[in-house]
Amino acid sequence: MDCYTCHRNRQIDTLPARELVAVDEHWRVAHAFDAALPGWLVLVPRRHVASIAELTDAEAASLGTWQVRLSRALRAVTGCSKTYVMQFAEKEGFAHVHFHVVPRMPDLPDDRRGPAIFGYLGASQGQRLDELQQDEVAAALRARLDDAGPE
Ligand SMILES: [Zn+2]
Repeated sequence: MDCYTCHRNRQIDTLPARELVAVDEHWRVAHAFDAALPGWLVLVPRRHVASIAELTDAEAASLGTWQVRLSRALRAVTGCSKTYVMQFAEKEGFAHVHFHVVPRMPDLPDDRRGPAIFGYLGASQGQRLDELQQDEVAAALRARLDDAGPE
């Protein structure tokens, strides 16, 4: 099985900040590697799950908490007015369930609102945040999450 997310999950102890914004026993949070939008996060289960229906009750129980905690941290760090949350897991090699948690900035152009936000994902090398920029956003979010503590 060639799964990008499982490959990363196996490296949990050596991941850079951008791949380890947050983690608990069930979930890991990464900054999207090919996004042109700072703070585009991906929330992934620690084990391989290809459908939301396959999540355990324990995984499900913390899913909502993570979505809300990440949304609060994104609001504090990016100044977004709200967040978008989406899950498809359709791309080859990316069937592992992953929830996109995306800052919806106050000045987001009309033609990028709603599902069109995906125009910021899959960005080319020159358009996407480079690894250093991703690490910086990740570190700011992580600090915010640590400050906030459990809600
Ligand atoms: Zn996987």
